[in-house]
Amino acid sequence: MLTNRQLFLKHVGQTSATPLMIDIERASGVWMYGYDNERILDLISGIGVSNVGHSHPVVVEAVKKQAEQYMHLMVYGEFIETPQVKLATKLASLLPKPLEAVFFVNSGSEAIEGAMKLAKRYTSRTELIACKNAYHGSTQGALSLNSDEGYKNNFRPLLPNIKQVRFGKIDDLLHITNKTAAFVVETVQGEAGVRTAPEAYWQAVRKRCDETGTLLILDEIQCGAGRTGKYFAFEHYNIQPDIVTMAKGMGGGMPIGAFISSNKIMKVLQEDPVLGHITTFGGHPVSCAAALATLEVIEEENLLETVEAKANLFKKLLVHPKIKSIRNKGLMMAVEFDDFDQLKTIIDKAIENGVLTDWFLHCDDSMRIAPPLTITEGEIEWACEQILASLN
Ligand code: PMP
Repeated sequence: MLTNRQLFLKHVGQTSATPLMIDIERASGVWMYGYDNERILDLISGIGVSNVGHSHPVVVEAVKKQAEQYMHLMVYGEFIETPQVKLATKLASLLPKPLEAVFFVNSGSEAIEGAMKLAKRYTSRTELIACKNAYHGSTQGALSLNSDEGYKNNFRPLLPNIKQVRFGKIDDLLHITNKTAAFVVETVQGEAGVRTAPEAYWQAVRKRCDETGTLLILDEIQCGAGRTGKYFAFEHYNIQPDIVTMAKGMGGGMPIGAFISSNKIMKVLQEDPVLGHITTFGGHPVSCAAALATLEVIEEENLLETVEAKANLFKKLLVHPKIKSIRNKGLMMAVEFDDFDQLKTIIDKAIENGVLTDWFLHCDDSMRIAPPLTITEGEIEWACEQILASLN
């Protein structure tokens, strides 16, 4: 008989030749437990997803309740599904006006696809501008925004009329012109290894987009849902997008995404063509119920208020001659080492020591740390001890 491991390799489509192959039976809070009851502390939240921890009881309860009431009823947008209505209303209450029209999808890539189409349709322009080292997803439209040729070349043809500029460079904003439908940018670049830009940059971005009639699409798929200590990362920079995309942490472990805009902009998807952007499962009622419960947890456990202190504790504890720097925005952190070889050895050793970290798609000398926001001081101390032990 084949083992679980052999069946995984034989029947589950693989994304690389070297999957982690950690076999988990159950997970709770920051901990994931193997079948042998050995546990591993999740310092990356399933890559930016489990912001309220694994299987938070409030989220699980909401999922159970909604699954019993109804699951899929009808393709997105036709029926009044209460979990969607409640979640959209709640998100609108968290966002500055006029961002109040929430289009639900299933994933981050899909949120980006929807936002790209919305911007083209609203502006009647075809050009899109994105940033170097950005990551917006793996579908062909989202992939076209990425600058890394290594990831794109073997999948051409991709979308034409897309340019990449340097993130954080005000001079480069001149590439945004009255031909540009949208500037698509992560508020905090994730896969580039946690890169931020100062408020002055964001003010210049907003100004340039306004001057040229270009829509500003902020990708909050990784940096949103409380990860940086604000529900939306753009709240740190005193700016407002025309369209914001979300996914990952939004669903508390269930798949959901959204692109959100004003009603004025969103309305154009209703006609010419009618049904020009549709999805069967977008805003699945069980995912919406989970997302609403996730927001309740963030509020009731005052998680946003704890983010900065927790990030500072990591920075205080992770001091070692091999650590060159730590970049962070809240609990979205990148610990810089010399090179990938050194980092890979440390990551492997940390897994042996019971702590799961990772590197970044476009930054392979830095360790990704993005724990559930629910992580306790004691858990941070224990995790940092294991990381430091893995360095020696
Ligand atoms: N945008 C950003 C900033 C992301 O980090 C990701 C996922 N890493 C995506 C988009 C794509 O999301 P998904 O994997 O859900 O399609």
